[in-house]
Amino acid sequence: MKIILLAIIFAIPCLGQTARWYKGNTHAHTTLCGHADSPPAVVAQWYHDHGYHFAILSEHNKFIDPKTVKLKGEIRKDFLLLPGEEVTGRKTVHSTAMNVNRLVPWHFDHGHRSKIIQKHVDETIKAGGATILNHPNFGWAIQAKDMLPVKKLYLFELYNGHPSVRNFGDHKHPSTEELWDDLLTQGMTIYGVGSDDAHHFGQWNPGKSNPGRGWVMVRTKELTSDAITKAMTRGDFYASSGVMLKKVVRDSKRIEIEVDEEATSKELTSPILYGRKVKEGKPGYSVEFIGPKGKVIRTSNTAKASCEVALPYLRCKVTRRVKGKDGSLLEHYAWVQPVFTDERAKQTE
Ligand SMILES: [Zn+2]
Ligand SMILES: [Zn+2]
Repeated sequence: MKIILLAIIFAIPCLGQTARWYKGNTHAHTTLCGHADSPPAVVAQWYHDHGYHFAILSEHNKFIDPKTVKLKGEIRKDFLLLPGEEVTGRKTVHSTAMNVNRLVPWHFDHGHRSKIIQKHVDETIKAGGATILNHPNFGWAIQAKDMLPVKKLYLFELYNGHPSVRNFGDHKHPSTEELWDDLLTQGMTIYGVGSDDAHHFGQWNPGKSNPGRGWVMVRTKELTSDAITKAMTRGDFYASSGVMLKKVVRDSKRIEIEVDEEATSKELTSPILYGRKVKEGKPGYSVEFIGPKGKVIRTSNTAKASCEVALPYLRCKVTRRVKGKDGSLLEHYAWVQPVFTDERAKQTE
């Protein structure tokens, strides 16, 4: 009887283990690269002290072993440094190698960028990790044709907080979101990441690449490097530049979301966030459900919305529009990952 009772007691925590949301940044730099202002311990401490659950010290062609980074004071149990590197290669191909067990080489070159990206992916897998292709619009380096042929690339930076990366494109070049729609429409299984690409933790202004501007919320049962990486490569996360969600349902039939208005307000009062300046629109929420070719299938102005998934995929974007101190309109976003109903649904199971 005793043995049975013990078995039941020990079984309960396992049964009760449910997935929860973890906030993380996959892209930050340190003094080791020569053009950032803080050492690894200070950078990691910033993320720890600002409520993040995980961070990657993604240094240019350097592997920072999390074991060598010592934080100060009482360290939260729910904080993790994931091992990583920013593989900084030829032709402005940069990628975050997340969850790697060693330095990933970066020297390869080729006439076609797609081959360079493929090498980043393959070498990162060999080192036990997964690739996030970084800031495609930096130097206008990466186009859809460069990403489409790449195998096992599931993640790219849809939003990067560095002021020079041109997330929103210009009159000649597509935004990273238009690039995403193009890739999804052409059949790629690819999810959008939000990150800081932070370099500056000492001086704060819009021209500096400060932390806290872009992040991911990842849903997993446990906070480990493997669990976070697996959840991201199967799309179980959303990217944010300020909007927080309390509910995200992504099943084969529908996407349903609910904004966490309290958490979003808290983020938006932070002096760290700047938002994207826009000319049109009213303050408030806008939820868009978006299908192939970037077509908006349904729009809602409430904090709670859902939409049936049509062939071959659907994604959701939440915008919070606010008036800045100078009267300008600023937008902050949450991007929910697409749900696929074609053969890609099998790849992500
Ligand atoms: Zn980079
Ligand atoms: Zn970087």
